[in-house]
Amino acid sequence: MPTTAAAGPPLTLACAACGWAQPLSDPGWSCPRCGGVLDLDWQPSIPDLATLAGRPPTLWRYREALPVSEPPGLSMGEGMTPLIGAAPGVVLKVDYLMPTGSFKDRGAVLLAALASQLRVSQLVADSSGNAGSAIAAYAARAGIACEVYVPAATSEGKLDQLRAYGAVVRRVPGSREDTAAAAAVAAGRPGVFYASHVYNPVFLHGTKTYALELWEQLGGRLPDVLVLPVGNGTLVLGCYLAGRELLAAGRIDALPRLVAVQAEGCAPLAAAMAAGGTEPETVAPARATGGTIAEGIAIARPARGAQILAAVRATGGTIVTVTEDQIRAGWADLARSGLYVEPTSAVCWAAVLSGKTGQAGLAGSVSQSDDRPHTVVPLCGTGLKSHPPA
Ligand SMILES: [Zn+2]
Repeated sequence: MPTTAAAGPPLTLACAACGWAQPLSDPGWSCPRCGGVLDLDWQPSIPDLATLAGRPPTLWRYREALPVSEPPGLSMGEGMTPLIGAAPGVVLKVDYLMPTGSFKDRGAVLLAALASQLRVSQLVADSSGNAGSAIAAYAARAGIACEVYVPAATSEGKLDQLRAYGAVVRRVPGSREDTAAAAAVAAGRPGVFYASHVYNPVFLHGTKTYALELWEQLGGRLPDVLVLPVGNGTLVLGCYLAGRELLAAGRIDALPRLVAVQAEGCAPLAAAMAAGGTEPETVAPARATGGTIAEGIAIARPARGAQILAAVRATGGTIVTVTEDQIRAGWADLARSGLYVEPTSAVCWAAVLSGKTGQAGLAGSVSQSDDRPHTVVPLCGTGLKSHPPA
């Protein structure tokens, strides 16, 4: 079955490193020639604000810009998460108000739609938690069996959620990379679709809707600065993709600066950025497994690391780090404002509070709104699945 966007020719996956190309419907999930990551070779159109105005408030409103069409019965209303004022010029986008409690629903619903379109019967995913939950939920709605590989240390709340959706959970000792390796082996079985939020670029076309929504919610503009957490970089790369598509469509005049945030305890991308490197720096094994309470971004060897570094640089942005104490302080400040997020989701607010995102450090806490925000900070995952930081 050809795999197409709402209306258009079959889509192609391409390897930027060596030029390999294959149909999106092909089960291969990385470049068979050089092992590189694959991207969609596609330039979608972005509807104007007037066209979008009457559509239902889900991410499917950007259908012209999505590489798969919406299957009946799959959506749970994902998308169009609210903005709330946080400080002068700074707003929060509350992306944990998604069906499974994290922004990962944006990509997961597209992967499930693709799997449906390809008529596969088995999905394999790997995750530190939230991506797995999201994929398991949408697999359940699509009626597709799902097996999720997670690091042994993953929060019980996330495991409970996976099992509730009917997923088979495989706990893997060691680092996040060991989990990915185990999933990759399982994904090699015949008839299995690897619903990888890291390798499958369709996921990034889902996460890009975070920035498309922002553009629409701000009346046809993007803020000067997007502060984003970065581990595997799915939100960073999605926002970069959205920025480039909006720019190509003439909907914006310049890309927003991407200021990505890592935990100091596991910061291969921040180290590379500081050193002028084009590949992630090596992280000591102890740090790769237990260097930070921000478990969702404790990624020692991000597969798309070179792309992340190039994307951030292309926007004039940077990658900063926050300490464990700063993450705890950011988390507590959000909680005192009624915003209960997982520790990983506090890193961006922690970076803003400590003055690492370009403006002066904010003495106060989450406070008033602003009509024209220059900085937008996501709250990516609910705190209900995890423990408060110790
Ligand atoms: Zn290649």
